[in-house]
Amino acid sequence: MSVDATAPYDDANIFARLLRGEIPSRRVFEDDHTIVFHDIAPWAPHHLLAIPRGSYVSWDDFSARASEAEIVSLTRAIGVAAREAGLVETGYRLIANTGLDSHQEVPHLHVHIMGGRALGPMLV
Ligand code: IMP
Repeated sequence: MSVDATAPYDDANIFARLLRGEIPSRRVFEDDHTIVFHDIAPWAPHHLLAIPRGSYVSWDDFSARASEAEIVSLTRAIGVAAREAGLVETGYRLIANTGLDSHQEVPHLHVHIMGGRALGPMLV
């Protein structure tokens, strides 16, 4: 089911639980504001998810309310994780599904980092 990007934050969502350590994750990066971990059902040889520690439903919510430190952290974390995965030379794709039409499934902002094979044209 797709997320309504304007809905209030649901503290029981799977990434909130993952952040609280209630479910396991394979983390590759963490700082005060952001974590990056492996997607549980990868679409590509490298498929990571970068999420803020703060309670943001979507990109819309994050871009409106997050502090500059949180925004810088998420941006830098994505770059670090992609670089450390060896994706800079071959390239990678970032996707942040936001709201109903996007098919966002988890109501906590996440940026997909995908690479490791030729991804072809944008997904439809
Ligand atoms: P969305 O469709 O953009 O919301 O993507 C949600 C992503 O979260 C999907 O790629 C799922 O495979 C991934 N996912 C769901 N649960 C977990 C988990 O527990 N650990 C890691 N990734 C997850």
